[in-house]
Amino acid sequence: MSYTTSIKCPVCESGSKIEIEVSALLQGVQFSCPTCKSQVGIQEDSIGAARKAVGEFENLKNKFTNSQKPFKS
Ligand SMILES: [Zn+2]
Repeated sequence: MSYTTSIKCPVCESGSKIEIEVSALLQGVQFSCPTCKSQVGIQEDSIGAARKAVGEFENLKNKFTNSQKPFKS
């Protein structure tokens, strides 16, 4: 599981996009805005909740995949 996303910088409101690698984010890595150099990341005490949310999302995807069984004739 490795994917990237980007968010708009919440600090300088310049419209700068901060590239975030989700798996690194969940390790507590912080990412910096290319414009104002502000660091964004998950608070250490929220990492558990964030991991759980991502895990539930993965479970949901698995469920969806598993539900696509071929029809029996
Ligand atoms: Zn910024």
